[in-house]
Formats: sequence, structure tokens, C-alpha cells
Amino acid sequence: MRILVAGGAGFIGSNLCAELLQAGHDVVCLDNLATGRLVNIEHFHEIPRFTFVQHDVIEPFPALARCDRIYNLASPASPPGYQRHPIETLRTNAEGGRRLLELAHQWGARFLLASTSEIYGDPLEHPQKESYRGNVSSIGPRSMYDEAKRYGEALTVAYIGSRGVDGRIVRIFNTYGPNSDPEDGRVVPNLITQAIAGQPLTIYGDGSQTRSLCYVSDLVIGLQAAMETAETSGDVFNLGNPEEHTINEFALLIRGLTGSSSDLVHVEGAVGDDPQRRRPDISRARERLGWAPAVGLQDGLERTIAYFRTERLAKAR
Ligand code: NAD
Ligand code: UDP
Repeated sequence: MRILVAGGAGFIGSNLCAELLQAGHDVVCLDNLATGRLVNIEHFHEIPRFTFVQHDVIEPFPALARCDRIYNLASPASPPGYQRHPIETLRTNAEGGRRLLELAHQWGARFLLASTSEIYGDPLEHPQKESYRGNVSSIGPRSMYDEAKRYGEALTVAYIGSRGVDGRIVRIFNTYGPNSDPEDGRVVPNLITQAIAGQPLTIYGDGSQTRSLCYVSDLVIGLQAAMETAETSGDVFNLGNPEEHTINEFALLIRGLTGSSSDLVHVEGAVGDDPQRRRPDISRARERLGWAPAVGLQDGLERTIAYFRTERLAKAR
């Protein structure tokens, strides 16, 4: 198949491109490099089945040959990243999302929207099921992302209902692993790079807030399962790892696994409205897609630490 990955130079997108290429597909990676990195995709250039198109999805598209599948992963995703680019984040998900859905309609291509657990905001229901409608502020410090994704979901549902697009929505919970930008400010890159450098590990607030971390290879398998499973058009799936820990626990684990003697420091630094608890209910993905994460936390963190150590060495050269 020929597959378009919008946002393919980013963390998850580049891991997805690698899997799709490995499976023998032709891959078109469309990305404006707003938060993505060429280093994530430069080794694909020797594969003739890979094409990189540097393009902003907000703008009219250049002529592209028809694709059978469209994964829409284009959007800033780290809280500091989307806060730096609030209007671009809203426009990317709204105007860019519409352009990609138009392409899906024109091509008769299957479509997948990468939405987010931020749809649930600071959740009042725990764990979060797909049926939960969320606790999001439309004017809060995360609104440019949360509302952009909510609009993206509504737009996807509208194209499915009124234009007959074969589309599905996945709500991704915190994902980590190789190819993530060590400087994008998210918790795993921050804590690992700090621990490796012997710097204090920054814990925002008292560190009692929780997250459930999913290793990227598991997530990529889930994305493909949601895309390829028959009769999933119109469906919404949580994809994430239900193993929940506090940020204090993650910091201690990362410090131990890196062999670091860094201090743990509690600082202010969280993007406001920091969700206090987050854990996916993945029953639907288990039942309908036959999907569940397989990589344990310690294993995933060890692989990610190895990746960041290699990146650090490459930078130092
Ligand atoms: P990322 O920032 O590494 O990747 C996003 C990619 O989209 C980048 O390569 C960026 O350059 C590209 N992009 C942004 N705006 C664009 C535009 N206007 N035109 C073209 N390309 C554009 O982030 P990621 O973690 O890989 O996230 C990928 C997707 O998954 C995002 O849509 C994000 O909202 C979603 N998601 C990720 C997580 C996570 O934990 N990583 C959690 C929930 C949802
Ligand atoms: N966090 C932290 N230290 C950091 C970065 C983040 O304690 O250096 C916390 C942050 O306040 C949040 C959690 O870790 O409670 C996850 O943050 P991240 O930015 O990775 O993603 P979010 O889930 O907030 O979108």
C-alpha cells in the first residue's frame, strides 16, 4: 500500500514510518518540521519507497499521488511546544485536519486521527473510558491543544457522517521511547536527560500527580491495528498502557536505571491545569482490535535511556 503519514518526522510518526517501511509499504512523510526532526527520518532516504515532503498542512497541498491510508499525526504535542505555538496548534488541527480529511475523501483512503487523552482534561472519572466526556477548560492554559483536538475529533466524525470517509479516532495516552526530542520538555525526555547529565531531576509540584506511560513500539502496533481492523470506521479507541504511577515514582525509577546520583527537586514548572490522574481504560481496544501493550515499564525505560545516551554521544562528537 501507499501510506501518507502527516507528522511523520516527529517522535511517534517516525517510529510508525519505520514499521510501515519494514512491512514493505510505500511511505509518504509530510511534515513542516515545526517540532519534528530530520534526524528521525534521514536514514530512510536510501529507501526508494520513502518520500519526504516538507509541507505545512495548514497550506494548500502540493500535487500528491493517491495514497490508500492517511495517518494524521501532525500537531505540536508537548505542553511547552503547543504553548509556544498556540495559534499554529489550533490551525494545524483545524485547517490542516480538514485538508487531510478532504484528501481522504478525494482518494477514498482510510483515515486515522491521532487524538489525545487530553480530550479528558483533568478527569473526574478514573480510569478514563472512551465514553467519558472530559473536564476541559476552553480558555485554560492547555486549551489551544485540548480544544484543537476536540475540534479535530468533531471534524473527523463530520466527514465520516456526511462525506462517507472511512475514518477512526485514537486517543493516545502518554507515550515515550526512541526518537523523542530530548529537548521538547516532556517528562520522560526531561528526567532521562537530566539523570544522564547528573543534573537535578525536575519534578513539577509535589509529584503526586499520575501518568500511565506507553512504550512507542506498542503504540505503533495499536495505530496500525486501529487503521487495519475491519469495520472500525466511526470508532474511537483509547491507546495507552494502564500501568499508572506518580511522577515521583517515575523519577526514582529513572534515577535508579541510569545509575545517577542526581537529586530530585520539586519545582514550579507545570503547564497550568496539570491533570492530576491519568490512566486509560483499554477494554475497547483489547476487545475490538485484539491490542494490548506488551513492553514493561523498566524494559521500555532502559531502551529509551540507551537511545538518549547514544544521542548525547552523537551530539558531543
Ligand atoms: P511530535 O511533536 O514529535 O510530532 C508531531 C509532528 O507533527 C512533528 O514532526 C511536527 O513537525 C509535525 N507538525 C506539527 N505541525 C505541523 C503542520 N502544521 N504541518 C505539518 N507537520 C506538522 O509529537 P508526537 O509525540 O510524535 O505526537 C504525534 C501525534 O500524536 C500528535 O498529533 C499528538 O497530539 C499525538 N499524541 C501524542 C502523545 C504522546 O505522548 N507522544 C499523546 C497524545 C497524543
Ligand atoms: N513533569 C515533571 N517534570 C518535568 C516535566 C513534566 O514533573 O520535567 C510532569 C508534568 O507536570 C505532568 C507530567 O509530568 O504532571 C507529564 O508531563 P508531560 O509534559 O510529559 O505531559 P502531559 O501529560 O502533561 O501532557
